[in-house]
Amino acid sequence: MRFCGVACMCVLLVAVAAAQQDKLDDTIDHELPSLVSTYLALHAAPELSHREEKTAAFLAGALRKLGFEVTEHVGKYEKPDWQGHGIIAVMKSGNGPTVLVRSDMDALPVEEQTGLPYASHVRAKNDAGQDVGVMHACGHDIHITSLIGVARTLSQMKDSWHGTLVLVGQPAEETIDGARAMLADGLYSRIPRPDYALALHDSADLEAGKIGYTPGYAMASATAVDVIIRGRGAHGSQPEVSKDPIVLAAEFIMAIQTIVSRENSPLDPAVVTVGSIHGGTRYNIIPDDVHLQLTIRTYKEPVRQRILASLDRIAKGIALAGGVPEDRAPTVEASKTEVTPAMYNDPALTARVVAAMSKRLGAEKVVELPPVMGSEDFGAFGLEGHKIPTFLLRLGAIDADRLAASQKSGVPLPSLHSSLFWPVPEPTIRTGVKAMTLAVLELMGK
Ligand SMILES: [Zn+2]
Ligand SMILES: [Zn+2]
Repeated sequence: MRFCGVACMCVLLVAVAAAQQDKLDDTIDHELPSLVSTYLALHAAPELSHREEKTAAFLAGALRKLGFEVTEHVGKYEKPDWQGHGIIAVMKSGNGPTVLVRSDMDALPVEEQTGLPYASHVRAKNDAGQDVGVMHACGHDIHITSLIGVARTLSQMKDSWHGTLVLVGQPAEETIDGARAMLADGLYSRIPRPDYALALHDSADLEAGKIGYTPGYAMASATAVDVIIRGRGAHGSQPEVSKDPIVLAAEFIMAIQTIVSRENSPLDPAVVTVGSIHGGTRYNIIPDDVHLQLTIRTYKEPVRQRILASLDRIAKGIALAGGVPEDRAPTVEASKTEVTPAMYNDPALTARVVAAMSKRLGAEKVVELPPVMGSEDFGAFGLEGHKIPTFLLRLGAIDADRLAASQKSGVPLPSLHSSLFWPVPEPTIRTGVKAMTLAVLELMGK
C-alpha cells in the first residue's frame, strides 16, 4: 500500500512535468510568430546607451499588458542630463522566492552592413555630438524579445510557480553603467531583494538551439582609460621647435604592448587595447596633444591595478625621454563610471539551472564554455561580494550551416559588435524563451 502510494505519486509528478513541458512548448509555438515580428521591429529601431527611451516604453507597455506591475524611468547616472530608462516589472504568485530576470536594451554606434531586409538605417548623435549609425550589433534586441517571451510563458503558467518574478529592462549595458544606475536609484528598495538573478546573452559562435554556461568567473572586469599625450604644437615644417605628441603617442602605443607580454604572468589573463586615437587637424600642423581611449580587461584586481600603474609610468617615461616639460606631462585617467568587475556565475545556481535545462532541452544542447575577456555589468545585480547568486547563460544565435561553413573554411564569422553580425531570429528566440522559462521554473516551480 505504502509502496503503491509512492509509485502513484511518482507517476503523478512525471505526468505533471510532462504536461508542463507540453504547455510550455505549445505556448512558445503560439507566441513565436509575434515574438519574431517584435524582434524585427526592435532590430530596425535601435537606440544608443542612455537614450533607450522608445525601447523602454515599448517593453513597459508589452509587460503591463500581461498583468505585470511596471515602474518606468528607473536609473540615476552621475551625469545629471542622462535620463534613467530602466524598467522594473513585477508579478506575484503567492509566497516563494524572488527571482530577477534581466534584459539589456541598448544598441551600439555601428552602421549596419548586413544588407538584411530588416536592417537598421537609424542614425543618431553620440555623446560627442557626432552623427553615427546605430545598430543592435550585440543582439540586445534578441534579449528584449526573449524577456517578453518569458513574460508571456510565465504569466500563462502562473499556477506552475510561486513567489515574486521581477523582470528588469536595463539601459546602458554597453557603457557598463546601467546596472549601477538602477541600483543607485533604489532598485532593491523598490522590489524584494532577489534570491537569484538571471540573464542571457547571445553568442556569435554558438549554434542556435544551444545554450552555453561557464561556472564561476565567466567574463572579465573592464576599465575604460583616457590618456592624453601632451606636447608642444608647431608648424609641420619645423619639428625642431615642437614636442610632437603624435610621435610620442606612437611610441606609447608600442611600449604598452610589453605590459601584457613582459610584465604580466602568462597565467593571469589580461588585455590592453587602444580603441581610439585622435590628434591633429591637418597635414602641416604638429598638434598640442593626442587623446587615446583604452580598455583594460583582467580577472584579478591586483593585475588591473598594476596595469593602470604601468600605463602611467610608461606615458611619463616617454614624455621624459622626449624632453616634454613637466607642466605638459601626460595624464592617464581610469574612468570611475565606465568600469565593471568580473562577472561571476554562482557555481551552485549554475549547476542547478543547467541540470534543469539539460533535462528538458537535451544534454547535447547545453554545453560548458570557457571564460572570455568580454565584460558585462549584469554581475552588479549580485552586489559586491556576490551576495545574490547570479547566472548569465549564453544563447546560441548562429545558423548551424553558417557555423559549419566557417569552421570548414577557417574564416571567422562576424563577432558581436561587428556591422556584419546577425543572429538567426527564429530558433534563437525559441531557445532563449524556453531556456529562461525553464530556469525560472526550476527556481520558482511548485
Ligand atoms: Zn556588447
Ligand atoms: Zn551585449
